[in-house]
Amino acid sequence: MPIYKAPIEDFQFLCHEIFDVTNSLSAVDDSIEISADLLDAILIECAKFSEEVLLPLNQTGDQLGCKFENGEVFTPPGFKEAYRKFSEGGWCGLSSQKEYGGQGLPEVIQYMTDEMISSANMSFGLYPGLTQGTILCISKHGSEKQKEIYLSNLISGKWQGTMCLTEAHAGSDLGLLRTQAFSNDDGTYSISGTKIFISAGEHDMVENIVHLVLARLPDAPKGTSGISMFIVPKFKIDKDGSLGDKNNVSVGSIEHKMGAKASSTCVMNFDNATGWLIGLENKGLSNMFTMMNKERLFVGTQGIAQAEVAYQNAKNYANERLQGRAPDGKKSPEKSADAIINHPDIKNKLLFSKSIIQASRALSIWTHLNVDIAKLDNNADNKILAEDIEGIMTPVIKASCTDFATEITNECLQIFGGHGYVSEWGMEQFVRDVRITQIYEGTNSIQALDLVKRKLKIHNGRLFNSLVNKIEGSLTEINQNKELEFLAEPFKKSFSRLIEVTNWMIKNENSSPQLLSTISNDYLKLFSLVCFAWMWLLIGEKCISSSNKENRFYKSKLKTANFFMYQVLPLSQYLEGKIKTNNMILENITIDDI
Ligand SMILES: Cc1cc2nc3c(=O)[nH]c(=O)nc-3n(C[C@H](O)[C@H](O)[C@H](O)COP(=O)(O)OP(=O)(O)OC[C@H]3O[C@@H](n4cnc5c(N)ncnc54)[C@H](O)[C@@H]3O)c2cc1C
Repeated sequence: MPIYKAPIEDFQFLCHEIFDVTNSLSAVDDSIEISADLLDAILIECAKFSEEVLLPLNQTGDQLGCKFENGEVFTPPGFKEAYRKFSEGGWCGLSSQKEYGGQGLPEVIQYMTDEMISSANMSFGLYPGLTQGTILCISKHGSEKQKEIYLSNLISGKWQGTMCLTEAHAGSDLGLLRTQAFSNDDGTYSISGTKIFISAGEHDMVENIVHLVLARLPDAPKGTSGISMFIVPKFKIDKDGSLGDKNNVSVGSIEHKMGAKASSTCVMNFDNATGWLIGLENKGLSNMFTMMNKERLFVGTQGIAQAEVAYQNAKNYANERLQGRAPDGKKSPEKSADAIINHPDIKNKLLFSKSIIQASRALSIWTHLNVDIAKLDNNADNKILAEDIEGIMTPVIKASCTDFATEITNECLQIFGGHGYVSEWGMEQFVRDVRITQIYEGTNSIQALDLVKRKLKIHNGRLFNSLVNKIEGSLTEINQNKELEFLAEPFKKSFSRLIEVTNWMIKNENSSPQLLSTISNDYLKLFSLVCFAWMWLLIGEKCISSSNKENRFYKSKLKTANFFMYQVLPLSQYLEGKIKTNNMILENITIDDI
């Protein structure tokens, strides 16, 4: 069975030494009762639950999958019991409002618990991951009555939340969706249509399922400005808050998928189902973005989580598997061969994985800290700055952490040779499971378009400038530290490159209608590499200036930072060249040439 040990030491290093999470948050809002000890205790508890309860269900969940029988969906054996323990432990409402029974803890802690859960069992983690988005959406856009009816039951884990957007003919382009909503005299709406690919649309772990459904009113404008959002519960709620009649919502079938098999993916039929409008008519899509943005960060977390567990298993295997001799002389002469970790190719693969995983984790923790600051800070300037960071980093984290995770799980499978391809070691499951993260919640190409066509442009480029200012602000001390030059120099070159390419893009975008679409994916990758490099620079600074710098952990961090700067970051130079020539080449290629 695959192994997994939660990366507590790395979490603690990033929270306490790099970002000073607890002090940063209490400086923003002194009502936050989170000490470093409490943070550590939560991490340790979640690690235990993930390693001992969720990990053992991961392979069987994959092998047995969800079952669809007589209109009902059954999760694999053990899932229901684990979900009960998870809810009773208060994990469903970790970062939700206290007034509805949540624990009110920061999003940055939620990030770390989500990572551990999704490493141990990505399919399991998706159920509460979706409920969190539903909670946020109802909290922000729901009426007081809707909050009262739904929030405490979602937060306790008694009920599940879903997002029902996709239809057979409307995926990336939600403006095409056709599900209809008609208003009734009693203030409710009748919803009719079929949604496909709905995660957690139906399952046996909860009492009720609360669907947030996008639909179109009869006279609504065409396209995305004519979409409204409705709450459609599986069971209607009686006046006293208890479960009432079954709504006209049913499951047509479940999908048979490449991976994430223990997460139910359902075709949902709404047949004059009763729905309640949430927010204003025709504002449904923009309100749904509250949930989508949260889920986009969550999907980035799933990517990091799967890359981490694949890396841990590959490293473990590489230390034990004996094949051939190390090129620089025998390492274990008493044995028939050396461990494969001594082969430079295997070392390269593992270091590539480690340097990306640890940088993406740092970037995610920093981004989630900004999500907390945006939520809690009463100072308007700080709030706007944190919102800018959250806004620009969301597509970057969603796409880059999942693109790299797909590459990393594949590289880690390769380390197992043929043993990676067979199911016994669990590596092929990581490759299959992680693949969906590049697709759902808006494909990674849609994220790249969001970055170049929206996020770089809103408020006249203010989001990008906020990030640039943050980075420049952090360089003051770094510039004075000569010992850090080996990390600072390559970083500064790549940072200048990002600014230069961004300006080039803005200057040239009118030269061709397809320029931005053509280069968006490469630009997002370049953007993420520079952000990762910045994280390694901050980490490097801490390790070098620590009184404890001879410590194994710090020394290894510095070596990994060095690897990243000289073996991974140079990709940014290649990307710059590709970005600047791609459109010229593509413009001369017609569809017939492809
Ligand atoms: C396992 C699973 C779970 C899911 N869970 C949910 C869920 O809970 N709720 C929900 O509503 N949906 C869910 N989805 C749907 C998912 O979000 C969509 O599959 C995804 O958004 C892409 O839509 P599509 O599959 O229709 O692909 P399409 O939109 O048809 O895209 C096909 C290809 O074209 C590209 N493309 C499309 N438009 C553009 C463009 N403008 N520019 C550049 N490239 C473009 C895409 O990147 C993609 O490569 C799930 C899907 C799966 C497989």
